[in-house]
Amino acid sequence: MTNGGARLTFMTASSGTSSSGRRKPRKSLGQHFLRDRSIVKRIVGAARLEGGQDTVIEIGPGRGALTGLLAEAAGRLVLVEYDDALAADLSEKFADQPHVSVVNADARTLSPSDVPEMAEGPYKVVGNLPYYAASPIVRNLLENEAPPTEAVVMVQREVAREMTAKPGEMGLLSVATQLYAEARIVCHAPPRAFSPQPKVHSSVVHLALRAEPSIGGGPTGKFFTLARAGFAAPRKMLPNSLAVGFRGKAAVYAPIIEKAGLDPSQRPATLSMDDWRGLYEAWLEAGEP
Ligand code: SAM
Repeated sequence: MTNGGARLTFMTASSGTSSSGRRKPRKSLGQHFLRDRSIVKRIVGAARLEGGQDTVIEIGPGRGALTGLLAEAAGRLVLVEYDDALAADLSEKFADQPHVSVVNADARTLSPSDVPEMAEGPYKVVGNLPYYAASPIVRNLLENEAPPTEAVVMVQREVAREMTAKPGEMGLLSVATQLYAEARIVCHAPPRAFSPQPKVHSSVVHLALRAEPSIGGGPTGKFFTLARAGFAAPRKMLPNSLAVGFRGKAAVYAPIIEKAGLDPSQRPATLSMDDWRGLYEAWLEAGEP
């Protein structure tokens, strides 16, 4: 469906109010609007948009705090907003900018069939994500059949810390993120940077997607079976944690860990992505016990 210059595609069935006046933020959709311009600039700057060439997908544009700057710097900009009233407002606001389109969809399940620009690639993602859906949205991007080359996303501070953790502090989310991307924190945002203010602190994370997952190409399902088991009892040493996760015996896992060149007294949080790759290979070789 087109509206002036901006394409507006409806894929959700939410409230559908008219676009007059300013609506109350919908807490259930994580609507905390960014009002700190310095953080807006840090986010857009981190996306490194140059020469108006980039295709950008903005997730959760809301009232457009980031959108104006993105529209200036991007060659093509697709706004993916779940709230149908906000999507309609955005479509009206950018009607005279034909390189901007609006897709009224759920970013947790976004695919190239919703947004053809994903399949055409390459593209970058930028978004101040709703807290309630940040993890599934990031996961969908990382595991997508047509992933972005880079993403700059605002998430809850604790989530950002886990995504970007180094060996010694790694958790399952760190492994799941760093399997697909190099991750670093760009900046932090206190509650007062938003309206209404959230109860939690936020951070901006930059993700540079790898050409292939750090365990090598091919499906990652089995790797996640191992990683989940590895973190089943994170305070225990690796053989015991794997034994808990696989409901097996620690004695089965200790030799696999040694074969991977690791110390069986290590705890799962200490493994690097290279260590995980080695452990995965040794576990496959041992017949995936
Ligand atoms: N980008 C705006 C800003 O920085 O002020 C709004 C950010 S606000 C934290 C999150 C936005 O994501 C809201 O506009 C909300 O309606 C939208 N949203 C919520 N759930 C979503 C989903 N599943 N898919 C896409 N957008 C979603």
